[in-house]
Amino acid sequence: MEKPKPLGNSEELIQKGVDMVLQALSTDDRRGMISCSALARIFACPASFNLEKFVKTHYPDKSFDTDDSRRGDRLHKAMQTFGTRNQDLSDIKPDEVEFLEFCHSKFLSVLKDYAQLDADSGVFVERRLWAGGILSGQIDKAIVSEKLKRAEIFDWKFGTQPVPPAAENLQMAGYALLAFENFEVDTVVVHIVSPCAFGKKYSSVAYTREMEPELSRQITIALAKAYKEDAPYASDIGAHCQFCIAKTICKKQLENCTAIMNNDQQIVLSPQDFSLTIENFDQITEKLNICADRIKAATRLIEQLKEAHYNFARDNIENLPNYEFKAGSESFKVDDMAEFLQSLHSRIPAIDEAKLLKFLSVSKSAMDEMVKTEGKIKAKDLKDFYRILNGCHFEQGKEKLVRKKEVK
Ligand code: SF4
Repeated sequence: MEKPKPLGNSEELIQKGVDMVLQALSTDDRRGMISCSALARIFACPASFNLEKFVKTHYPDKSFDTDDSRRGDRLHKAMQTFGTRNQDLSDIKPDEVEFLEFCHSKFLSVLKDYAQLDADSGVFVERRLWAGGILSGQIDKAIVSEKLKRAEIFDWKFGTQPVPPAAENLQMAGYALLAFENFEVDTVVVHIVSPCAFGKKYSSVAYTREMEPELSRQITIALAKAYKEDAPYASDIGAHCQFCIAKTICKKQLENCTAIMNNDQQIVLSPQDFSLTIENFDQITEKLNICADRIKAATRLIEQLKEAHYNFARDNIENLPNYEFKAGSESFKVDDMAEFLQSLHSRIPAIDEAKLLKFLSVSKSAMDEMVKTEGKIKAKDLKDFYRILNGCHFEQGKEKLVRKKEVK
């Protein structure tokens, strides 16, 4: 493999990178441009760009949305009009309004200064920008003043997990580059507003025009690396994998899974770890966090395999004679607590409601015990007894895939 040249002398490397990038752009349906939101992942794991592209090409109908991403999309959409006459909160739950208010307050406090210094400042909402034909990014909101030669870029983060602050955030560095390329400005201030993170986080940082060439150089080199056919993987799985959709074909993730299943030396706890002392406490904390992260990553991957396995069986059950689907188990749900308690009390007056409520919040089996004792109801009749009460119902669980028993 060709040895990389030192970065200090990289003109040729940059040109080569740009050529590769342009070649890739011509074949990609999104014009192949890496988006600023993927920069941090691509810096950490250049291989992830091609792997994600592969997954998208081979599974064009697969949705990679999660509950969190759908919620983020709703909140982003609402922020487009929040605070204007066209404000539309029809998709927003009452407890989510404060998130929008927090974002808007950060934007307003900056806008006020611009209103005084340059009334002609432009405000852009959800604007996609392009840089050098190699990078793109959708900006949530921006204020641009040609008179002050300054731009302010706002990025809303609606996840609950904290993100790196603006000064260390590569996505924001990408946005700064986009702003320098697209607007006549000398300073770009990027703001990250995270209203759903614990403690509601906010940070900002300023980039100046003098920083643009270095930003451009570093980003171009990173993108060029990512577009290479043999782009390197990150040295290990980690935070950069969080939103990567290529986990199921990633050799690092599979290695981690295998390591977990083989009780790999690196992650197995040793007897000494259980002798906690003040001196080793930090070290064990770190070790436990690594264990938890690795197990979580492996579990997630195996869950994906489980889901694919189940769906495959659903589609092919006629050709899988050794398998069958069996009804899932029923689970008890209370729809209206007041109605349920009243209904239960009317049938078993001896029941202590305060105690029952406490038991119900701990576990259903604690409530079952109480109902059996106070109502003199046999265990086998319990389900039928609940069925006649108001304010509750049994929900049918997902069908189970089981291997048929062999007849001897
Ligand atoms: S899952 Fe992680 S290591 Fe694997 S390709 Fe994606 S970012 Fe890279």
